[in-house]
Amino acid sequence: MMGVYEMQKEEILKQYFGYTTFLEGQEKLIDNILSGRDVIGIMPTGAGKSLCYQAPALMLEGITLVVSPLISLMKDQVQALVANGVPAAYINSTLTYKQTIKVIQNAKNGRYKIIYAAPERLDIAEFLEFAQNEHLAMVTVDEAHCISQWGQNFRPSYLKINSFIEKLPQRPVISAFTATATSEVKEDIIKILKLKTPFVMATGFNRENLYFEVQKPIDKYSAVIKYLANNADKSGIIYCSTRKTVEQVCDNLTRDHYSVTRYHAGLSEEERTKNQDDFLYDRKTIMVATNAFGMGIDKSNVSFVLHYNMPKNIESYYQEAGRAGRDGTPAECILLYGGQDVITNQFLISITNENNDLDPEILEQVKEKDRERLKQMTCYCHSLDCLRAYILNYFGDRAANFCGNCSNCHTNFEEIDITEAAQKIISCVFRLGERYGIKMVIDTLRGSKAEKVLKFDLDQIKTYGLMAQMKEKRVREIVNYLVLNEYLALTNSEFPVVKLTPKARDMLLNGENLTMKIAKEDKREIKPAKPKAAVNNDLFNVLRELRYSLAQEKKVPAFVIFSDATLMDMCSKMPANDLEFLEVSGVGKMKLKEYGKEFLEAINNFT
Ligand code: ADP
Ligand code: ZN
Repeated sequence: MMGVYEMQKEEILKQYFGYTTFLEGQEKLIDNILSGRDVIGIMPTGAGKSLCYQAPALMLEGITLVVSPLISLMKDQVQALVANGVPAAYINSTLTYKQTIKVIQNAKNGRYKIIYAAPERLDIAEFLEFAQNEHLAMVTVDEAHCISQWGQNFRPSYLKINSFIEKLPQRPVISAFTATATSEVKEDIIKILKLKTPFVMATGFNRENLYFEVQKPIDKYSAVIKYLANNADKSGIIYCSTRKTVEQVCDNLTRDHYSVTRYHAGLSEEERTKNQDDFLYDRKTIMVATNAFGMGIDKSNVSFVLHYNMPKNIESYYQEAGRAGRDGTPAECILLYGGQDVITNQFLISITNENNDLDPEILEQVKEKDRERLKQMTCYCHSLDCLRAYILNYFGDRAANFCGNCSNCHTNFEEIDITEAAQKIISCVFRLGERYGIKMVIDTLRGSKAEKVLKFDLDQIKTYGLMAQMKEKRVREIVNYLVLNEYLALTNSEFPVVKLTPKARDMLLNGENLTMKIAKEDKREIKPAKPKAAVNNDLFNVLRELRYSLAQEKKVPAFVIFSDATLMDMCSKMPANDLEFLEVSGVGKMKLKEYGKEFLEAINNFT
């Protein structure tokens, strides 16, 4: 570690992390930390927050203590640091007493620059004593939103961080990082951690490398298969809303010979750990899971996140979808929407906290908020405007309404007149006595001979078969449009019934004209904003194989060796010697030493 204090941050960046330029926000955060000022970094997942405290930790005299809520992650984070030549360790409940003593002993001997610990640890007398006798240069609070009751994952033990800091003989510089912060959360972080006029860096929520798409397939499983056929060996997550769906999708994919595993809260702890590792270590390419999976998942080479069901709000969606493309390479986030998803979520909201004794008035407010959030999520699925802009606006970021990298920006729309169709649908709902669900309305209009339709004599009513000429998909689109625009309403029950609203009656009375935007068959031609560097796929696969076998051998997750972004850069730079290998983004001194020979050989053999 000699000479680190004299190194410039650019040298640290290259030597330890293998990068030549800082990402947005990193440099300012690092400079402020080094000048002794407290900082808050509010940056989306994948923005490179870790480096903002890891780089200065190497340059400050003393130890940096990183408080992190995610015990399961600490090991990976530390492994990744050590692989880069950064002396680091973690202390948490997964260590035995003996191991903990050992780490503390090593720390006293100056062996580490960075120590990770869970917030609960700060309360333990031995740990406090250790901290008081060492020189702590910085305390970093990771996932800092956990400190706020307004945040999504409030952790009461975070409230104790400040009293721990106050017991130290010398106040260290404090840095806090999060990917989710409303102004309430931000104020809480500043207040509760007692930050001193902190430097605040908020880079906005946009994730340029993510492509967003909404599909409304009749058969979701076929849509998954179709997607996988074009993305065969890429690593990805498929989120489902229930354990049962996870089981089904996973079983079907296994049957269809995909490399797949599963994760949900109903599995034993043992199986969950094993399946998670299979995915992290690239032994399995696809993870099918409920939202129980992924909190803090640090796998950098997730190429797609498919949602088999629509989540309950945009916050959850963006968090889950955002697990794709953490290393900055292009990745896809595709939501498979079905009307049933809305119903399921409505039902879930209606039963929230049923057994909890929350004040009924407050409970109703909470539910009202949840319903509003669900509505916004549903609108996302039906929106015909830029999907990225929709999300960014939701989070209060300003965004242009064309991103060129989402399914709506790629679609040609045309405006069609739906006045007549709407009149037919509305009058059908009326004649059905507002007693049936969407499916029955559509079946009746299309003159279906389905058993249910005949059983209730719906073929006798006046609107039966009125829309037999129109495709079912189109009729459904128009019905959805009418629901979204509140001409029709669905009851809040397990089997929602279609009702008419006053707006529908007005429309019939006033002969109002209605138009709707629909997608044309042909795709819009989009010139990619940045032409993608052509990457030699065969070489990429060779390098991935090599990474896989090295990961197995060293028992570390594949991304601890190199990220996909680094492998791609190798493919385009084709280094032939050590010096050229060091030019690759993500290759520092340590990685060169550890893996240079093998990767250079593989590249050389390939050419
Ligand atoms: P966050 O914690 O903000 O979600 P990470 O710290 O996990 O993000 O970083 C995301 C990815 O970006 C990692 O693969 C990391 O190595 C990479 N990264 C960080 N800083 C840089 C940089 N300056 N240049 C290129 N890649 C970087
Ligand atoms: Zn767009």
